[in-house]
Amino acid sequence: MTEKELEALRSRLKEELAALPDLKALEEFRVRYLGKKGEITRILKGLKDLPPEQRRRVGRLANELRDELEEALRARREALLRAAEDETPGVDLTLPGRPFELGRLHPVTQTLQEICAVFLRLGFDLARGPEVETDYYNFEALNIPPDHPARDMQDTFYLEGGLLLRTHTSPIQIRTMLAHRPPLRIIAPGKVYRCDSDVRHTPMFHQVEGLLVDREVSFTDLKGLLTYFAREIFGPETRVRFRPSYFPFTEPSAEMDIECVICRGKGCRLCGETGWLEILGAGMVHPQVLRGVGYDTEKWQGLAFGLGVERIAMLRHGIDDIRLFYENHLRFLEQF
Ligand SMILES: [Zn+2]
Repeated sequence: MTEKELEALRSRLKEELAALPDLKALEEFRVRYLGKKGEITRILKGLKDLPPEQRRRVGRLANELRDELEEALRARREALLRAAEDETPGVDLTLPGRPFELGRLHPVTQTLQEICAVFLRLGFDLARGPEVETDYYNFEALNIPPDHPARDMQDTFYLEGGLLLRTHTSPIQIRTMLAHRPPLRIIAPGKVYRCDSDVRHTPMFHQVEGLLVDREVSFTDLKGLLTYFAREIFGPETRVRFRPSYFPFTEPSAEMDIECVICRGKGCRLCGETGWLEILGAGMVHPQVLRGVGYDTEKWQGLAFGLGVERIAMLRHGIDDIRLFYENHLRFLEQF
């Protein structure tokens, strides 16, 4: 290989390179000249067989040619890539955007908020309390001493140091009365816990507790208040009835039923053919409870009520299994 031949090769390669149509041809070109068995590689390998003087000059030229070619290949590759990019369809800014699926509140949360809203409109204040309670607030201050049979129905989860998970929101009544002087009216929503699990019970559920303490509060006020509440939640035509009941911390005590939302009083499977559905427990605050927090029972009377939020949500939406609320199936939750 002489210097002259190398010069000829160089100009031939330049022409060939400029004519390469795509990246595939470019790669074939590279292998043909710069690959392990490529022509230029072969020339460089053959240098050792040349006389020393020629080897120096041809060697320099051949090395220059290799560097030049590598540089030209790189430039050509970039040019081809850029051209390919320009042909790819770009972003069409006039297309409508992808819609975002809006989240929503859980049906229990929705119902909880609607229940609270009714009482907030009536001037009740929102009150909260801890979910981990002492035996005193959860039972004893509510007139449920350690040997009281009412404890059987409210078995719960016990923690170290005499603490327990509250079984109702009623401890908030005690906490509020100890912290404030009457008159007061509060609505207290929250999670509560019991050792129950079936189609009507989950170990954790939500309650809303109401308490009103004032002068000359009577059972009439309780009935009027809760009737108004039931009609706000279940519709203005809703009929209600009160049945005598028993709670250790109220006297007298009652349970309130609404006319069955399905059969409207005729009797069906949901209401057990009675035409009525129980929705809450209520009563006049037991004087023992008021005395326990230092209120003068000659001056102050109270009314209280408590209801299960899941139960209200189930009745409003016709849901027959409480566990559906906590299984997180989107097909269920997306209906609300
Ligand atoms: Zn019915």
